[in-house]
Amino acid sequence: FQGAQAPHIPPESLEMLNPLGEGEFGSVMQGVWHPPGPHQPLPVAIKTLRADCLVSGEKEFVREAAVMARLQHPSIVTLYGVCRERQTGTLMLVQELLEAGSALDYILNNAKTVGLEEFRVWAAQIAAGMDYLEERKLVHRDLALRNILLAGKRRAKISDFGLSRAVGSESDYYRAKQGGRWPVKWYAPESVNYGQFSSKSDVWGFGITLWEMWSWGAPPYGNLPGSEVIKWIEQGGRLVQPKHCPDKVYKIMRNCWDYEKEHRPTFRELLTTFRRNPDYFDFHLS
Ligand code: ATP
Repeated sequence: FQGAQAPHIPPESLEMLNPLGEGEFGSVMQGVWHPPGPHQPLPVAIKTLRADCLVSGEKEFVREAAVMARLQHPSIVTLYGVCRERQTGTLMLVQELLEAGSALDYILNNAKTVGLEEFRVWAAQIAAGMDYLEERKLVHRDLALRNILLAGKRRAKISDFGLSRAVGSESDYYRAKQGGRWPVKWYAPESVNYGQFSSKSDVWGFGITLWEMWSWGAPPYGNLPGSEVIKWIEQGGRLVQPKHCPDKVYKIMRNCWDYEKEHRPTFRELLTTFRRNPDYFDFHLS
């Protein structure tokens, strides 16, 4: 794991099982990885990336994967390695399997049994993982509830870190301005206007992710087109307080959406805020 390359996983050591989902850049399959040596087979999620999505080049992608594979934190989905199919050359990411799937789907499917208690726990766990990235000067760029996966009802993990830099298209930034398929509703104004991404723009996305949770998975800004959202944000408009969201949590969201990025909290501060309240934190964190 120390080199510049992500660990390579030979295709023969992977068993593909059932499909888990489809993303913007490819599909995800459940599978089993048979690591070399005496290790037990591991349940995995195998993410296939469509060739046309790898515009920034394979080298860049593999470099990103190497960074991802070195990250070790209970709030970050572990990347075991990269696999290349022999015949087609298709690249696959082999990740830790999170049985409970995405937090967004989980909330939508379990609306009656999931609530404020879980949201507080997940928020603190996500802040802890993002603090770990911020400390290493790593930017996620695509923090959203669909990219939070659950290992269980009370364990949220951040997924897809770094991918958004390696996949997509060169004109994404311009498409973002027009409000195309790029997730502008999660983007800070400086990302939309100048293509600037930083831990501070991740903090904006964290605020939107909090809003999604406390709104039980509602889509931010409803059906408003991305281009209209951008204009509205520029005029000072912000998402309204969800019905069941406590004032103190909404205040945190609003701080995350400060137009001036310097005025937004750091993830360390967000973590401290969630930690301060003892009932936010009755679980093991790091
Ligand atoms: P996008 O890639 O556009 O952000 P997405 O996050 O929904 O969208 P993927 O990351 O490709 O797309 O994932 C698609 C679905 O596959 C997820 O919603 C989730 O249900 C499932 N999935 C992805 N990774 C894992 C994993 N490690 N363990 C279990 N399920 C996973």
